[in-house]
Amino acid sequence: MPGSGLAVKIWGNLMSLRVIPCDFSDLRFCWGMKLENVRIVLVSPLYGGNVGAVCRAMMNMGLSELRIVNPRAQFDEDEMRKMSLNAVSIYENRTEHATLVEAVGDCTAVAATSARVGFYRDQACTMREAAPKLLEQSQVGPVGIVFGPEDAGLNNDDLKVATHIVRIPSTEEYMSLNLSQAVMVCAYEMFLASDIFEPPEEVSPDAPVELRERMFAAWKETLLDIGFFKEDKAEHMMMGLRRILTRGKFTVNDAKIMIGIARQSQWAAKNPADETTS
Ligand code: SAH
Repeated sequence: MPGSGLAVKIWGNLMSLRVIPCDFSDLRFCWGMKLENVRIVLVSPLYGGNVGAVCRAMMNMGLSELRIVNPRAQFDEDEMRKMSLNAVSIYENRTEHATLVEAVGDCTAVAATSARVGFYRDQACTMREAAPKLLEQSQVGPVGIVFGPEDAGLNNDDLKVATHIVRIPSTEEYMSLNLSQAVMVCAYEMFLASDIFEPPEEVSPDAPVELRERMFAAWKETLLDIGFFKEDKAEHMMMGLRRILTRGKFTVNDAKIMIGIARQSQWAAKNPADETTS
């Protein structure tokens, strides 16, 4: 049934959070926030290759709306295509604007990115700090993340429309990132903050004590059989093995594999290969 998967997911999330939202606006926190209102705004980009790479980074990170302010006449579209590959549609669907104010005219929050320090830039924060706020704001209307041209960056006038100034931490020797890499860092932080990405989970549950004890018993028996230790040292030596196998995550599958290896080793020790038959 269409939609039943989503319902199951929402229910699962509510159960795992052990909270029932008191109003429906809270529900969006359960399955990730939308990124569709996030605009990437490039001011007079110089290199087609960079713009292509920006499109690719945007598509990788779930952003689709590109706005270009004051495009340059000598823009190299071939380079753009080479670097955007499957994300060229983002460039083709771009909007162009004469001024930055026009490009972010409908945005209720604007993050201006700058590698430089000083004037107006003293309250700069990282994208990790800004992303949750921008995302929250983007659930009710468009928000813009603005990037300057490769040769000059954003000027002080550009910064006037900003509600947030973002600086990507980098070394003092070379603070300025490549334009498309700066877009990638910002888009990545937005994507992570949106909680859309679900990391793969271990399917096998953690091994319970009963299973672990069966496993240690199997190993003790095997290690005695193959003469790794004698009965008087067994408990002490087994403590070492317990320590090794309980240091990290240990699942039911892990325990079953270890029991299987112990049993097979025991069998092999009791049934040495008959050289004459091979
Ligand atoms: N020469 C320019 C740098 C331009 S790099 C200057 O001195 O400012 C192109 C754009 O990438 C910048 O305008 C900015 O939007 C972004 N950018 C590059 N490095 C950045 C950093 N460390 N923090 C934030 N934005 C950065």
